[in-house]
Amino acid sequence: MTDTLDSPAVAPSLVVDGAQLIGGEWVPSHTGRTIDVINPANLELLARVPQSDAEDVDQAVRAAEAAFPAWRDLNATARAGLLFRWADLIERHSSQLDGLESQEVGRPSWGPPPMAGQLRFIAGQADKVQGVSLPTYSPDTVGYTLREPYGVVGAIIPWNAPGPMFVTEVGAAIAAGNTIVIKPAEDAPLTPLALAKLSIEAGIPAGVINVVTGYGSEAGAAIPDHPRIRRIGFTGSPQTGRLIMEACSRHLTPLHLELGGKSPQVIFPDADLDTAIPAIAMGITLNTGQICAAGSRVVVLRSVHDEVVERLATQMQKVTVGPWHQPVNMGPLINEKQHSRVTDYIEVGTEQGATLVTGGSRPKGPDFEKGFFVEPTLFDGVSPDMRIAQEEIFGPVLSVITVDDEAEAIAVANGVDYGLVASVWTQSVGTAVRMSRALQAGQVAVNSSLGAGVIGGPFGGYKNSGFGRTMGADSVLDWTQVKTVSMREAPLPR
Ligand code: NAD
Repeated sequence: MTDTLDSPAVAPSLVVDGAQLIGGEWVPSHTGRTIDVINPANLELLARVPQSDAEDVDQAVRAAEAAFPAWRDLNATARAGLLFRWADLIERHSSQLDGLESQEVGRPSWGPPPMAGQLRFIAGQADKVQGVSLPTYSPDTVGYTLREPYGVVGAIIPWNAPGPMFVTEVGAAIAAGNTIVIKPAEDAPLTPLALAKLSIEAGIPAGVINVVTGYGSEAGAAIPDHPRIRRIGFTGSPQTGRLIMEACSRHLTPLHLELGGKSPQVIFPDADLDTAIPAIAMGITLNTGQICAAGSRVVVLRSVHDEVVERLATQMQKVTVGPWHQPVNMGPLINEKQHSRVTDYIEVGTEQGATLVTGGSRPKGPDFEKGFFVEPTLFDGVSPDMRIAQEEIFGPVLSVITVDDEAEAIAVANGVDYGLVASVWTQSVGTAVRMSRALQAGQVAVNSSLGAGVIGGPFGGYKNSGFGRTMGADSVLDWTQVKTVSMREAPLPR
């Protein structure tokens, strides 16, 4: 274990090479094994993190248990104050954090990350966790509810936006008075570790936040398997979500699941295409399409189909692809597995009869020999039952499905197992109101993609996109359990 990294690519002082945070200490895994974290644009080693397993998770649970009573009993305003200090430090280090996340995820800079704002919103909820007073059968009784933390809770997050995922899950859980054991994804654990380091600097006590790194099948599986972890938050694929839910059923551990999406972008003939086209192209190429909310299906009314496809193709060809350190719009996919998954889906689309309009290959040139690159890809002539119209690709692949009227648009938009986000492009208030009611999704965006522009909107899925909501005011309440207290006046001693 070294104190900082030699590699100039990684912001020194933000990560401790080969170590994870348990009980306020930077420690290796109990076996000493490590995982290499690489930059997916050039395959350079960024850092090593511990390859932990159930024993490390158990140590983290013990540290979280030791920290719990004092954290629970700290008054809520003081807890909020510490979270605000953490947010201030995140803001102060925002360019380093953005650089670190860019390197491990392989995406271009997004500018100042939204994490400090997200955390401040959550911190503001910490001292607003309230019960209610209850009516009683007789005047000698008072009744009320308390909202109490669960104790030690667990979270597992994916690699696509490791920083925001970390602050929203951890922030809400600890704002409610829980202490947490969290496992970041093996591909992108560095931003979470850096954020945890800043939490210690902010004065959040040792053991309140414990970060255990490792593979899903080892450290990840040990979290829902642990009998003393009292609640779980999971963000990731539906396949893993099912495993987590099965594991939680063994200990009857409550949980929320934030899973995948196949989000529709429904375009009506009266849509303002000057706004819609760039937003839709951006929505499927941002983070190389590796966003659960990515609008991966365009459902277009026939009369505007030709114009939409032509303009989308032009727009997607303008997206510059390249390594993270260049001024590009889109970086590589995260790893080899994701690269094969996306390229396999492109083949399946062609085999099933869709028309490849643009993209579909690895970009050419010396910059692209290493790294998991793929071009922004547009398919037209997609029918709703094709696999590229039904299954989450998690890459920059957009499918255009043509429909004849509003009823068919609704049927196609809703005709998938997922229900995370849906966008509607129209200038008609009537269409917007009808569609926002009819679409089966946890978030509906009218005239925007990815649901941009709302602060504190609860985020989560309908159908197989999961259940429970993060980010909104209620996300803190979700990490509490309700206790009813009734108090009856005791007769005075004679
Ligand atoms: P994944 O399910 O493979 O991995 C997610 C996390 O689960 C990782 O930390 C991984 O190590 C861990 N994991 C894997 N197997 C496990 C197991 N058996 N037990 C416990 N933990 C295990 O998903 P991914 O490929 O990393 O992420 C992509 C998926 O995440 C996509 O489906 C995407 O839509 C979804 N996602 C959803 C949201 C949302 O908010 N709804 C946000 C981002 C990503």
